[in-house]
Amino acid sequence: MKVDGGLRPGAHKAAPPEVDVGVIEGRIIGFVFAPTPSQSDRPISELLAEGRPLRSLEFFPPKDEPGVEALRQTAAALRRIEPDFVSVTYGAGGSTKGRTAQVSSLLRAEFGFTVMPHLTAVSHTRAEVAAVAEEHYARGIRNIMALRGDLPNGLPPATAFRDGLRFGCDVVALLKDLHPDLCLGVAGYPEKHPEAPSFEADLVNLRRKVDAGASFITTQLFFENEAYYRFVDRCRAAGIDVPIVPGIMPMLSLKQVTRITTTCGARLPDRLIRRIEAAGDQPEIVEALGIDWALTQIRDLLAAGAPGYHLYILNRARSALTLAAGLAA
Ligand SMILES: Cc1cc2nc3c(=O)[nH]c(=O)nc-3n(C[C@H](O)[C@H](O)[C@H](O)COP(=O)(O)OP(=O)(O)OC[C@H]3O[C@@H](n4cnc5c(N)ncnc54)[C@H](O)[C@@H]3O)c2cc1C
Repeated sequence: MKVDGGLRPGAHKAAPPEVDVGVIEGRIIGFVFAPTPSQSDRPISELLAEGRPLRSLEFFPPKDEPGVEALRQTAAALRRIEPDFVSVTYGAGGSTKGRTAQVSSLLRAEFGFTVMPHLTAVSHTRAEVAAVAEEHYARGIRNIMALRGDLPNGLPPATAFRDGLRFGCDVVALLKDLHPDLCLGVAGYPEKHPEAPSFEADLVNLRRKVDAGASFITTQLFFENEAYYRFVDRCRAAGIDVPIVPGIMPMLSLKQVTRITTTCGARLPDRLIRRIEAAGDQPEIVEALGIDWALTQIRDLLAAGAPGYHLYILNRARSALTLAAGLAA
């Protein structure tokens, strides 16, 4: 449902913004649809071709209105470090379908960011995936992170995968068929996708995504750069020649990082665990350690010629700002 009005009076002087009102988990929420910039986004492949290291940030769509306001503040703070693009995740099984689109529009229209929404196949028909992509395209978005997605808890594969959309390469092929000028990123796994029977099989499947039309790879998070360097070497040997952007997550707490690494299969180095344990129950110190670790990783990656870095910022500005300041030094 669309109604006239604005959540932030005076934010847009040219035309009153539209507000899309919806009910999520029993709460009424509103997202501003600011006037869409008239120009389409530049494809990220073009930015990568410039040869300078890119900085990108990943957001997830908030659940409610206070979350949207917090995201706005985060985005406002992050504007000063001029990310080359920002991405917005897609909830498991399409659970954030509308919110991913809305937050993507907000970040693009209110903050002028080049936005790459994620789009996953799980639980969607081909027509549903196409409809989401068409909505982005109509708003001028030209970059999409094309994914298979994770299965929501308890959902059997027979229900989750519909209409021949089974793997990331199927999503890439569908989107490229729809709009050949869409620039598509895909996921890569320096420490192997947890379901893959072997590293070699995973690389064959990664190559399928590139052969279907993906322009670049963003990696799963990792904490040891050696994993990334080995991965890049293996990709090149397997004939995968697109840019491979390392994904870095500044850790916030041992609990958080253990939960995430258990799901995604990334290894937590003993050295890092020892440091976190030595910090004890002091969140500020653990956060500072996480930023310091990420800073060391990024410096090393850029010195080794990585095409940039993608930060999993979990909707927080502080680590990204501190890292940008550290890298400027
Ligand atoms: C950068 C990044 C962003 C992400 N964003 C999101 C998000 O927004 N929302 C979300 O739900 N999840 C997200 N994920 C997680 C991702 O959805 C999961 O890791 C998911 O399990 C795999 O998605 P994929 O697109 O890599 O799948 P695929 O490339 O399809 O790979 C999945 C598994 O299938 C195998 N495989 C692939 N193709 C074939 C084939 N043709 N035949 C046989 N086997 C095959 C692969 O080896 C792998 O083991 C993200 C991950 C990364 C790294």
